[in-house]
Amino acid sequence: MKIIGNSSNKFGSGDNKPDKIRIDAKCPVCGSLYDFGLLDVIQEEDGSTLMYIKCTVCQSAALSIVALGAFGIKVASVLTDLERDEVTRFQDESSIKSEEVLDIHEALELTDNFLNQID
Ligand SMILES: [Zn+2]
Repeated sequence: MKIIGNSSNKFGSGDNKPDKIRIDAKCPVCGSLYDFGLLDVIQEEDGSTLMYIKCTVCQSAALSIVALGAFGIKVASVLTDLERDEVTRFQDESSIKSEEVLDIHEALELTDNFLNQID
């Protein structure tokens, strides 16, 4: 399922958008209907689409993943306080490596009363 595109796709020219999107289209914070004209596709890959949308009423932002599988469409959404460009920035960051976790773990063990120093 392609919801939006800025180039030619199966809906025709880039200006065409589907009339109805049958997914949960209400803001989970204030209950307002989303304006899907503001929907932003961040990534499409292997049949799943990562989207960003911001509520025009309360400015809450949500990230949604829509995945098309053998048994239909699955939608998972999470509220975020990231701006659209911040999502892209974090996406480009390399993931945390196990060695880095171990380094932090060792650093914590070498420091006495680490938790007490936070207060
Ligand atoms: Zn809202």
